[in-house]
Amino acid sequence: MHCHTCPVRYYFDRSEPVTESDRYAACKQLSYHLGTPLDSDVIWKEVSTVHPGIDPMLRSFLDSCISACNGKDWKPATQTDVRVVSARYGIVGMVDRIVADGAFSIIRAADALPFGTYSADRLRIAGYALCLQEMTGKEVAGGYVEYIPAGVSRFHTVQPRDRRQLLATLHKVRSIREGEVPHRQLNAPCARCRYNENERCAENRSGKISGKRLSELM
Ligand code: SF4
Repeated sequence: MHCHTCPVRYYFDRSEPVTESDRYAACKQLSYHLGTPLDSDVIWKEVSTVHPGIDPMLRSFLDSCISACNGKDWKPATQTDVRVVSARYGIVGMVDRIVADGAFSIIRAADALPFGTYSADRLRIAGYALCLQEMTGKEVAGGYVEYIPAGVSRFHTVQPRDRRQLLATLHKVRSIREGEVPHRQLNAPCARCRYNENERCAENRSGKISGKRLSELM
């Protein structure tokens, strides 16, 4: 959810096609097998079917993920790719896995932090928990983030600050969709952003386009 880290980046990303990385493709396919024996040949065949042009080098990445996940206490999913929605907050999303006791999880193709979860993951967990709460009428305290390359499943309990941040982000997304041009935030992660050299972003950073409508920048 880039709008949370930088609304300007979210604004630029909106006009880019959404592409799935090869690493994510491998992790996602592996996730369907969590809680059952992880057969590298079977999973790679599935990955190659879903992504026919996938780089063969990814096979060794898949194998390292399998090694990391083997021997851990994964619960098999009873449902996968579950569409969740909150009419109240106008959120729609897809939960990767739901297990027998009703707990939900999202899949990440990233390494885990030594402790805790990334802020973007906390936001997603908060959003999905709100949706599931509305759909089931039951309290949903949090959800799991499954960092496949690390073989780590970590539960995040939703905190009030997560919900506050989620509401603020939703408000920002709505404003941008309605035509607001976002401004660079003080702590924007520009150093590791692919728009760092982008002319329009540089203009935005300098404030030259402040106040213009979105349509004026296209
Ligand atoms: S370069 Fe900085 S301000 Fe521009 S989109 Fe990236 S993070 Fe945001």
